[in-house]
Amino acid sequence: MANIGYIQVVRHCNHLCGFCSNPTSPYTHDFESMRVLVDDFVDRGYFGVILTGGEPTLHPELPRITEYASQRGLHVRMITNGSRLADPRFARDMANAGLELVHVSVYSTRPEVEAALRGTEGTLDSAYAAVDNALERGVDVNINCVINKLNADHLHENIAHWLRHHPGVRHFIWNNLDPSMGRAEVNQALFTPRLADFELSLHRAMRMLHRSGRSFRVEKVPLCYMTDFAWASTETRKIVKCEERIVHFLDDKQTVRQTMWGHRYAPGCTMCSLRSICGGLFDRGDGYDPAELHPVFVDRDAIVRTVLFDGSDPSSRFASMEQWRREFAQHNAGELPRAESFPSVDRPALAEAGPESEPGPTPTPTPGMVAVGRVTARGQRLYESKRRHERQRIESRGLNLERGRGSSGGG
Ligand code: SF4
Repeated sequence: MANIGYIQVVRHCNHLCGFCSNPTSPYTHDFESMRVLVDDFVDRGYFGVILTGGEPTLHPELPRITEYASQRGLHVRMITNGSRLADPRFARDMANAGLELVHVSVYSTRPEVEAALRGTEGTLDSAYAAVDNALERGVDVNINCVINKLNADHLHENIAHWLRHHPGVRHFIWNNLDPSMGRAEVNQALFTPRLADFELSLHRAMRMLHRSGRSFRVEKVPLCYMTDFAWASTETRKIVKCEERIVHFLDDKQTVRQTMWGHRYAPGCTMCSLRSICGGLFDRGDGYDPAELHPVFVDRDAIVRTVLFDGSDPSSRFASMEQWRREFAQHNAGELPRAESFPSVDRPALAEAGPESEPGPTPTPTPGMVAVGRVTARGQRLYESKRRHERQRIESRGLNLERGRGSSGGG
């Protein structure tokens, strides 16, 4: 299985998006603590790793951990806002280190919308430069876009821009806003779209890409809002291929290993022909209205076939539909192995990493689980200072700051 794991290498960022789901935390990584997580993915036979954040390029050892992961045989990817990759020298360093694919995050090609969403002016030009720099260095580029209330009506306009001005970009990913955590949770009313808000524009955007020969994926959109392109749903693909995902969060959540992809459904879902391969409303708190879901009656197996026998996807391991039906039923019945225990961590080796790595109030990991970063005195000071600064900036925009660590209010 072509599982790909995530490592949040930092949690701070030089942008201030009003719906950030992974904002600043006091946890920090050094090379050693990241190396352990890379080794874990290698031991599990993972295909690749996605370095993310926060803004991962703000970690001074990003090229080094990229090189290490690449040398250990992982396909190394990164999700970035593009601000540092706009520097051709940094793009060269990352390419030389072994970065193979970069996801540049752009929400809207309308400058005023992008600035309102990012809380930072002038970011589009950097993102465009990052795209061009990466392509020039032979690094593949995907465009990531969080669907939200402000861009829901012009997703197709964004695609028209990319096709016209950056034809070297071949793959696009939309993530529907997850209002269940971080800053997205406390600013739900301002940014969470209704599903119907983006249905038409998303459909037009997918059709444009399909006709142009580009590929795309869509995360956290129920299949009844994308039936023509249901095979492009990330959750559906993982459900069909019985895949898992591990995210090493650089916060109190630590490691989350996800094997189930469906969460919230409406009563009508029980009669829907796609129920067994649909993630429904995923994990959204109360951000979305189940009343917006509507059962569909289309050929489920036609979608499964498209997912399984897609020649461009190296991860498919099923030789026939019969094999898939048998293993899918066993998987859902819990007959196939799902969970493995996490390997133990070399704790003494981690503790030797220098004064900034002296053990702080980091929670003791569950026995057998990998520790993800740590809270140091310096990390805590930087976190508190960053939050003071971000509170001023975010409140001046009429937005709320996410709940702080260990608080139920404004932290
Ligand atoms: S009705 Fe429910 S199961 Fe069917 S596509 Fe919509 S969310 Fe998925």
